[in-house]
Amino acid sequence: MGKTKHQGPVKLPKMPDPKHWVSMVPFGLGKVKPKHIRDTAKVVWENKDNLPYATRILTQGVCDGCALGVAGLKDQTLAGPHICTTRLNVLRLNTMPAIDKSILHQDISELRKRSSSELRQLGRIPYPLSRKPGESKFSRISWDEALDRIAGKLKTVDPKQLAFFLTARGITNESYYAAGKAARFLGTNHIDNASRICHSPSKTALKRSLGIGASSCNYQDWLGTDVLVFWGSVASNNQPVSTKYMYAAKRKGTKIIVINPYWEPSMANYWIPSVPDSALFGTKLADDVYQVNIGGDIAFMNGVMKHWFEMEKEHPGSAINRNFINEHTHGFSELKKHVEAQDWLSLETSSGLTKGRMREFAELLAGSESGVFVWSMGLTQHRFGTDNISQVANLAMLKGFIGREKCGVMPIRGHSGVQGSGEMGADPFSLPGGDFDSSKTRKRIEKTWGFKIPDWQGDIVGVSLENAVLPENHPRKLRAFYTSGGNFLETMPDPDFVKKCLESVDLRVHQDIILNTSTLVDAKEEVIVLPAMTRYEQPGGGTSTSTERMVYFSPEIKGPRMEEARPEWEIYTEVAKRVKPEQAHLIDFPDAQAIRNEIAEAHPVYDGIQHLKGKGDVFQWGGAWLCEDGECPTPDGKGNLLPIELPELRKPEGHFYVTTRRGKQFNSMVYSATDPNNSADRYDVLLHKEDANQLSLKEGEAVVVYNQFGTFHGRVRFANTRRGNIQVYWPEGNVLIPKGVYEKYAGIPEYNTAVVVEKAETYHAHKDTKYVEKRIEELETEIG
Ligand code: SF4
Repeated sequence: MGKTKHQGPVKLPKMPDPKHWVSMVPFGLGKVKPKHIRDTAKVVWENKDNLPYATRILTQGVCDGCALGVAGLKDQTLAGPHICTTRLNVLRLNTMPAIDKSILHQDISELRKRSSSELRQLGRIPYPLSRKPGESKFSRISWDEALDRIAGKLKTVDPKQLAFFLTARGITNESYYAAGKAARFLGTNHIDNASRICHSPSKTALKRSLGIGASSCNYQDWLGTDVLVFWGSVASNNQPVSTKYMYAAKRKGTKIIVINPYWEPSMANYWIPSVPDSALFGTKLADDVYQVNIGGDIAFMNGVMKHWFEMEKEHPGSAINRNFINEHTHGFSELKKHVEAQDWLSLETSSGLTKGRMREFAELLAGSESGVFVWSMGLTQHRFGTDNISQVANLAMLKGFIGREKCGVMPIRGHSGVQGSGEMGADPFSLPGGDFDSSKTRKRIEKTWGFKIPDWQGDIVGVSLENAVLPENHPRKLRAFYTSGGNFLETMPDPDFVKKCLESVDLRVHQDIILNTSTLVDAKEEVIVLPAMTRYEQPGGGTSTSTERMVYFSPEIKGPRMEEARPEWEIYTEVAKRVKPEQAHLIDFPDAQAIRNEIAEAHPVYDGIQHLKGKGDVFQWGGAWLCEDGECPTPDGKGNLLPIELPELRKPEGHFYVTTRRGKQFNSMVYSATDPNNSADRYDVLLHKEDANQLSLKEGEAVVVYNQFGTFHGRVRFANTRRGNIQVYWPEGNVLIPKGVYEKYAGIPEYNTAVVVEKAETYHAHKDTKYVEKRIEELETEIG
């Protein structure tokens, strides 16, 4: 943990610098780009029934969008005000009225005709609901009935047959903490959170490489660092205010490098609405883009290291930081031997980049005194995600880019609450302040909580869901599934299989603010829907932790309320108390402040959270830099350099690698059918023009993308992707992703695979041919 404290926001330069402008054409007229003014007007219109409340949320609350962390309109990086369209889009979730009763209680088949976006637009869940087999409509039930029925069922199931999941939405640290404690109180360790499908490998890898589980640095370290690398991250789209930080970085001479299979238009040029010269003339963000193959990052990084070791042979001290390596790391010689043994052909084939391009990047980093590596799903959502991140940590350690100003490793988060989910213990591998598998941590928490924590390892959410289809007598068959938010039908691979899993559970509880397609799936005994409060409605407010470890207090905000909605933390503890009334005092929290007091005790680095009480209150756990001065929180204070094997990339002849991308959406919530950054449609298949030519495909032509897992019907859209690699939108493209393939250390599902792209016409003709052949065979059999 670092001793240096964050210095607070700094100012942007007043005078513009035309050197960074995209063009002299004002407002990017004629270019494909987000329409911020039009989008803002649309949000004002959408919230017209509740404008004063909407304004109070924006000016007093902590953003419930991404995890950049904006409190009111201010952040800790740059003097404000800051706002973005992501925040404006999710605003309506907080201000909309209840779902019209005539729609809420209509036949389930009618509700099922609606997409998740349409369900979201219906409004808030107003009161507890129930639906049993044979019932075609949701019926209203009282809170008492709902809680008693849930508790009644939980009393009958073995705790190993009960699982919890919490998405990130606007969920606060208090709710994660209460859920993690309630799950253990009920005897289960099957509790997981949304980071399982986004940054779980980041935490696992940073832990094994550096002993830390979060970003080692701040956004402010971007400003003026020599090189800022975005690896598999489209921060401009997913964390839009970050473009302002990029602008500030460029003004201080930082080089921005993007490593991604697709030349993301929004990472190349951006018109930042709140920076006048950028809003007018745009800002060139990326100085260079390295278009790696999907899954080719490990090879690319090994290539960079191989160059460094060659440069060191020629000119010692020209590439890596020997002092840092000697004083603060283990494993240098093993890593060097491993990398030197790799041949350039394999590195080039796997990465998709030439030896020369790898040399360019190696030289750029070699000549840099400081650097920050930022990454996202492009690195984590692989079956070798943890290895990808440990490679990033290898690069950072070899350069000594750790534990000092303008240096660091940063897994940038996309959900405001997700950083805190694992830290609060809503995770099968974590308890507050430590790992689940550490008996020391378990004992410490048992002492704080006053009850025994089950000592068996809990399952990740994907496995919990798969356990629903185990045989009836299996001891781990999932019988009760309690989910706070989350739409598994749209976030997990193989939606048909996920539906079967959801249907196979006896009782499913959906604690949420809106309906989604998963809420409407049947259960064997009952589906119970519980109306939750938003973070702005919860009495006593709540806290959330940003990517850069700032713990922000978001106050309760005056405004209209959903009459029956309850604070999420309270619902968990209420259920738990009803299951074990004789021990109710052990799980009782009179208010949110009591939870914060207990978090401060249970999680030593969160000491300080108990003092957050008003608008704008914030503290950063761990100080400005984790591993400050190279001292890592590992047993001997050193980081681990790890030799990483090249992954086997399974792409048979004639196939493409496919990965998924995000358009105008907030995680799985889609806000527009058109991607504002490239004007693509949600069913467009982003394909390199020359690949398309080889397949005789024209732009706009219907194609079928398929493999043994599924079939996706879309249209060709020419895009600047690495040849042999295509992109489809997420979650629509999930039909192509295999189920049950998890990364071995962190359990993230694999979201990349190999596919065939074929003209729709040919694909269907091929199917027809088979059909005709089959009919002929049948006819012959019949005649015979
Ligand atoms: S960038 Fe993220 S934290 Fe900032 S306003 Fe937008 S959604 Fe909120």
